[in-house]
Amino acid sequence: MRVMLEPYGSDPAQTRGRRYFEPLAPTRDDYQRDRDRIVHSTAFRRLVYKTQVFLNHEGDLFRSRMTHSLEVAQLARSIARALGLNEDLSEAIALAHDLGHTPFGHAGQDALDESLRAADPASYGFEHNLQSLRVVDVLEQRYPEFDGLNLTFEAREGILKHCSRLHAADLELQEPGGVGRRFLDRSQPGLEAQLCNLADEIAYNAHDIDDGVRSGILVYEQLLALPLWRRFHDEALAQHPALVGQRLLYDVIRRILSQQVYDVIDTSAVALLQYAPQSADAVRDGPALVVSSPAMVSDSAHVKAFLRTHLYRHPRVTQKTEAAKDVVRELFRAYHADPGQLPEDHRIRLPLPQAIADYIAGMTDRFALREHERLQGVCRSPFRA
Ligand code: MG
Repeated sequence: MRVMLEPYGSDPAQTRGRRYFEPLAPTRDDYQRDRDRIVHSTAFRRLVYKTQVFLNHEGDLFRSRMTHSLEVAQLARSIARALGLNEDLSEAIALAHDLGHTPFGHAGQDALDESLRAADPASYGFEHNLQSLRVVDVLEQRYPEFDGLNLTFEAREGILKHCSRLHAADLELQEPGGVGRRFLDRSQPGLEAQLCNLADEIAYNAHDIDDGVRSGILVYEQLLALPLWRRFHDEALAQHPALVGQRLLYDVIRRILSQQVYDVIDTSAVALLQYAPQSADAVRDGPALVVSSPAMVSDSAHVKAFLRTHLYRHPRVTQKTEAAKDVVRELFRAYHADPGQLPEDHRIRLPLPQAIADYIAGMTDRFALREHERLQGVCRSPFRA
């Protein structure tokens, strides 16, 4: 097992640096420090009570954004170590990648986007990736000299994993040659950022199946229609013929996770050997180099399509998402009608619709519900019929 940083791995000594100069920490390099700042941030702690797929109050054992982020970080570190990439940077990006998510998952985001655009036609709307960057650049307020966490360029570029051209052009104006640039000239981010993108997908495909079965929405037998599932189901039973129930489920998930990780490592190792980038920067102009094999891309597309049809769009999930959207819309409306309801530090920020969006985006599911109750004067969960 390789543990050395390869020439194409991000070397903290070669970082493009932070937006505000800070001297080196005595015992930690810049990427370790980024990771530690993220772990100590308020937004990170809030992930505990933010929805991944199942709304947070539906059960204690479903993934939250926090456990999802920890799973992504674990996968990212494993892959980074095997490929000779920077583990600390990979971990930092993975832990921060979902910091900008609203309460109630994607439903919350859609409602917030809609409300923000309606209240401020000049706004580009709400997008969680951009919000993750906003959290680490602006919204965390814990250091005397600057807003945000003042992370390195490499961590920030990994956190901004998608971005529309419109948003990117705006970022480029604020920070020429900065983290928006690659979405305009279509270049690649560093390898650690590429890797976290894949680790995110690998993690949620696997854990959403687990949570889907746990919730009773997915039935084990349905999974056998997936080629990837079938293969590892057969393999698990060939080795352990008596395996049933949850242990069978876990065993198949574990095999699928491992296979996807090995696939990324093997496929990327070949690509890296072929392109032989001589520095972390040399990867930016070529194709993506941390990749899954075409066969795994196709298997994973099947899993995604399956989850979309059978889990994300299941009436039991979508009914709740409609109720969640109402909560977010009504919160937005209430603060907009009476900004005095916002906490002082948000009320004074301009433009007001953006300040409201930032405040709501930062809420946990249960805080949003409590605020909704307070502002609407109703004492009944909108999720109960
Ligand atoms: Mg994620």
